Amino acid sequence: MPTRSLLASIVGERYVLDDEESFLVYGRDEYPRAFSKPRAVVLPANAQEVSEVVHACYRHGIPITPRGRGTGLSGGALPLHNSVVVSLERMEKILEINEEDHLVVTQPGVIVKNLHDAVEAHDLFYPPDPASLESCSIGGNVAENAGGPRAVKYGVTRHYLLGLEVVMPGGQLCRLGGRVLKNTTGYDLPHLFVGSEGTLGIITSITLRLIPRPRLTCDLLIPFASLDKASRAVNRILMDLGIIPAVLEFMDAHSVAAAERMTGQTFPFSEAEGHLLIQLDGSSETEIEKQAAALGELCLTLGADDVFIAQNSATRDRLWAARRAVLEACETTRPATELHDISVPRSRIPDLVRQLQTLTAPLGVDVACFGHAGDGNVHVALMSDDPSSFEEQLEVLNRTVAHTALALGGTISGEHGTGAVKKTHLDQALSPLEMKLMRSLKAAIDPQGLMNPGKIF
Ligand SMILES: Cc1cc2nc3c(=O)[nH]c(=O)nc-3n(C[C@H](O)[C@H](O)[C@H](O)COP(=O)(O)OP(=O)(O)OC[C@H]3O[C@@H](n4cnc5c(N)ncnc54)[C@H](O)[C@@H]3O)c2cc1C
Repeated sequence: MPTRSLLASIVGERYVLDDEESFLVYGRDEYPRAFSKPRAVVLPANAQEVSEVVHACYRHGIPITPRGRGTGLSGGALPLHNSVVVSLERMEKILEINEEDHLVVTQPGVIVKNLHDAVEAHDLFYPPDPASLESCSIGGNVAENAGGPRAVKYGVTRHYLLGLEVVMPGGQLCRLGGRVLKNTTGYDLPHLFVGSEGTLGIITSITLRLIPRPRLTCDLLIPFASLDKASRAVNRILMDLGIIPAVLEFMDAHSVAAAERMTGQTFPFSEAEGHLLIQLDGSSETEIEKQAAALGELCLTLGADDVFIAQNSATRDRLWAARRAVLEACETTRPATELHDISVPRSRIPDLVRQLQTLTAPLGVDVACFGHAGDGNVHVALMSDDPSSFEEQLEVLNRTVAHTALALGGTISGEHGTGAVKKTHLDQALSPLEMKLMRSLKAAIDPQGLMNPGKIF
């Protein structure tokens, strides 16, 4: 039977797409250099339809690529090997918000910002906040173990997962974990699916833990003349003050310049080499004011040029809009760019930045570094005005970034995943035994290799 008829018999004609325009949309994610034409795109309405689609593909040996909202940056949702894209975008209902047990049960296609707004209306809080939260799905966040600025205090997606419903590669619907905070019943299978990038099954329902919503926030922008000074300040804030800020981000001068180019707005103190963007949160105004004063004083003694406190929501929004724009700005405001998402122990951030600048300067490439100073997850944008020589050098440049991160005790991806893009460096980041264990897990769960082929390995 042709693939279209097979899929349409489950979801209806309207929800199978096989026109060129749809292929252009679903044949890529936000990693800009890759495209792969899907065999077809199918949009199931519920878990039962997902299960039937997967079972039908399994019987016919057709590979599948699960897709949330296609905002991934590592080519995870690329339909390689002529696979069928199973898009979860129609499954966008929040099924339950439970105030007593502090949990939410949601379908995978819900946009993360909508989930935030819905639980916050109940005075509850789901902290993971990827910069893409207005467009990415919660299913994609689980599949990538997404993080965000608040990870330094509140952790990443993994830390909120209680249970999942998953369609396994043969089509069986399977419940993993549950609704309890503590659970040591057998292997921790739900967490095996966190960060599995659609290679083990399709997530059709997610149960997440929530916490009480902090009522107040205070945002500070602190410019430093050098990135070294800014980095030292990060460690001292965490060690000396006895507080963990909700957000502790940094941006170097190249990142700020890119954000300014894209937004057309000037950033305060934009000439500084290193900026810290910090958010304090809590429920007592006096306590937050005390913390902000102590933090500002400490940074000034450590060489900060100034301490700028956002006094109103307009200023706060402007600062955060600039921070959220940096990634896209680095990618779009220069003719040739490549983005990395590496992690190093946070004390090594200055070494990382310095070494990358030294290694890439002879190649005529600029490096912008920004991201999550509090947890050592650094986004590195390689940027050039000469696309043809950049393409020629790209392999060397990518290897340089990966090697530098690994040599500093770090790793090649902090939150964007391995996908189709980072897999070339995976065997340098993991030991042979780790690789073997991971391959065995994949083979045990998906012996036919039909679930998101060509990813991770
Ligand atoms: C401007 C911008 C900023 C970003 N900022 C951040 C950030 O701060 N932090 C961060 O972590 N990421 C960030 N990202 C990356 C991206 O948004 C995340 O990886 C996000 O989790 C992807 O969600 P998605 O719904 O778009 O998933 P997709 O891109 O559609 O898919 C991502 C992967 O998940 C799999 N998948 C999706 N849904 C399911 C499912 N239901 N079941 C099984 N597998 C599934 C896919 O097969 C694929 O491998 C950013 C991206 C952009 C473009």
